Amino acid sequence: MPAPHPTAFDTLPLAPATLENLKRLGYLEMTAIQAASLPPALLGKDLIAQAKTGSGKTAAFALALLANLNTRRFAVQALVLCPTRELADQVTTEIRRLARADDNIKVVTLSGGVPLRGQTTSLEHGAHIVVGTPGRVMDHLDRGNLQLDALNTLVLDEADRMLDMGFVDDIAKVARQCPPQRQTLLFSATYPEGIAKLAAQFMKNPVTVKVEAQH
Ligand code: ADP
Ligand code: MG
Repeated sequence: MPAPHPTAFDTLPLAPATLENLKRLGYLEMTAIQAASLPPALLGKDLIAQAKTGSGKTAAFALALLANLNTRRFAVQALVLCPTRELADQVTTEIRRLARADDNIKVVTLSGGVPLRGQTTSLEHGAHIVVGTPGRVMDHLDRGNLQLDALNTLVLDEADRMLDMGFVDDIAKVARQCPPQRQTLLFSATYPEGIAKLAAQFMKNPVTVKVEAQH
């Protein structure tokens, strides 16, 4: 038998249904950032991952948070913070595609610029995963619409852009409301000084992985 390819998804401790689904989606090989970040992320480590746009960072954190999910527990177990509504929608779509092996997983999107009421109703119906922009997520937390006591994975996606957009205080506030033993995954295209400061505030011995741009 040939040795397993190091970038094949089936080298990872993923559920057989997830591996089947990845095949169906045409995800045959891990991208470089997925191959670097999934092994430590699936071990439960905090992670800072840096790679350029379009390198497959969404699936890297989505597969990790889905692996942490207990679908029998109907409570918010993963929260993904994104800089914009468009990115939050893209992340929600990708998580739903990757979660299709288990269609009982409920994902709710909480973006600014969208009426609160529909979001509040969705939260009342329950969710396993929330994806949203920091200000709006904070708003729902303040109103008591969202509880994070069952959270096991916090993801900061496009962290550099969230810093540029002035979300640092909202991110810190949201992070303080998450259980301390959660896993935190930070993804970014660049690694400015502010990211290291942000990470130092609320990550535990993070593993750092970086994929250089290919020329
Ligand atoms: P990033 O967040 O790094 O900018 P995305 O997560 O948006 O990148 O991924 C870019 C594109 O690559 C998406 O269309 C996604 O569906 C696709 N993709 C991600 N991982 C894989 C893979 N392992 N194999 C094939 N396509 C992939
Ligand atoms: Mg991305």
